[in-house]
Amino acid sequence: MKILLGELQDSVSPLTKRTTLGDLSIEEFGDKQTPVTISIEVHPRGDDFELSGRIRARLETVCDRCLATAKAAVDAEFNFWLLTEERPDLSPGEVEYLLIPNTREIDISAPLAESLRLEIPSKVLCREDCRGLCPRCGTDLNHKQCTCDAEKIDERWSQLSDLKKRMESE
Ligand SMILES: [Zn+2]
Ligand SMILES: [Zn+2]
Repeated sequence: MKILLGELQDSVSPLTKRTTLGDLSIEEFGDKQTPVTISIEVHPRGDDFELSGRIRARLETVCDRCLATAKAAVDAEFNFWLLTEERPDLSPGEVEYLLIPNTREIDISAPLAESLRLEIPSKVLCREDCRGLCPRCGTDLNHKQCTCDAEKIDERWSQLSDLKKRMESE
């Protein structure tokens, strides 16, 4: 995603941008056309700019229980600088920055994509009541019932009927 330098200079914060995963070069979390909303606060710092804000999208990942595709609403914060030249006073790691190239526009995809990737929750479910995979045979219990559970129930029934027999014989 490219932003015009003029847009930053004249911006009235926050700047709202609607873009797509494809435009941010994010391929692993859904279709290229997946919408992404970005709200950017622009803080001029001399000739440089500090950009902060939020980036939101519904990303595709894998269900923690059944391994099917699951969607997660991600709302991430970002903060980085656009520098006109290297700043030795900013130690690496302290701030993220991009150097402004000698053109009228700058590609800010990389730090935005990174902040979105960092916010993907590690445990996502395809739906709240996902039944997951059978721990014994691996059947996806959302689609099909395996017989492992039935065997367990059979065991319980037989224990019950044993108990009943014992009670009757007493
Ligand atoms: Zn699932
Ligand atoms: Zn099973």
